[in-house]
Amino acid sequence: RAKAKFGTGVCFYESSMNAAARRRNVIAAGLRQALASNEFSLVYQVLTDLPSGQPIGYEALLRWEHPTEGHVSPAEFIPIAESTGDILGIGEWVLREACTTAAGWPEPYRIAVNLSGVQIYQSAIDQLIAKVLHATGLPADRLELEITETAIIEDKTVALDMLRRIKALGVTIAIDDFGTGHSSLGTLHAFPIDKIKIDRSFLLDAINNAQAQAIIRTVVALGQSLDIPILAEGVETPDQAEMLQRLGCSQVQGYYFGRPGPPPPPGTRLPTIVGQSRPVTMLDVA
Ligand code: C2E
Ligand code: MG
Ligand code: MG
Ligand code: MG
Repeated sequence: RAKAKFGTGVCFYESSMNAAARRRNVIAAGLRQALASNEFSLVYQVLTDLPSGQPIGYEALLRWEHPTEGHVSPAEFIPIAESTGDILGIGEWVLREACTTAAGWPEPYRIAVNLSGVQIYQSAIDQLIAKVLHATGLPADRLELEITETAIIEDKTVALDMLRRIKALGVTIAIDDFGTGHSSLGTLHAFPIDKIKIDRSFLLDAINNAQAQAIIRTVVALGQSLDIPILAEGVETPDQAEMLQRLGCSQVQGYYFGRPGPPPPPGTRLPTIVGQSRPVTMLDVA
């Protein structure tokens, strides 16, 4: 019907495409020039130690201002950039930018950078990391790379080999969004993991839900057996923070402790967070 109305095959194609597919094409086309046009930026969200309340570092989170679509969430554009291959150039930009910023922070603040599975499987990411550390002067032990559980189990042999190469540089590795994939205990023990980040979804109803609390408790016990810290993502309320501390969680991240925002200025010392009447954000010290 559309064909009869509009005549050409192109119009037929356009008009019969659903809105989601059209949006995807706009994003994919926009991604091709976004780097060159300086449309990306990074925001930084504080990672906090429990029970001390000391900030231990920041996670760099990518932001994109599309010239016509406005703000586009990484949850939407990262998967598209992965399928087009643009993630490789974007990921390199993120790594350089985040490490450059973090190199100006005092000891011991660390920077966490998200890595895509595509970077692990389709690039010499270990060589890039070495190059960026060298160029920025950031000490390797202040860089943490976050890799999702789902990415790691896609091809365990290849992933294990690359994670070992990355580890050999002296950087640390965190498993992101833990609990949303299906890794076995064997996988976790075999991989050189320095931290597990429990996905935000587990925290959502944990306050009133014994089963959800039991899951957190189990992951905390897993962390103790692996001798690595467990970080809970998405902490929004003091009640949640108190519960996580009670369950033995050793690190937290979420709006209660600080929203993603501009990086702390070079040389800043951040105040302790727990026990204050309101959450401290980076803006408070800026
Ligand atoms: P992620 O790595 O698990 O990052 C945490 C996400 O949770 C961020 O969303 C953050 O803004 C959000 N968040 C933090 N605290 C809270 C809270 O208390 N409540 C709620 N509701 N949300 C909270 P964001 O920035 O939209 O990023 C979404 C995902 O996109 C990230 O999840 C990560 O998987 C991916 N991503 C972001 N930046 C990059 C990047 O530079 N490279 C790659 N490969 N992926 C990235
Ligand atoms: Mg992350
Ligand atoms: Mg995460
Ligand atoms: Mg998550």
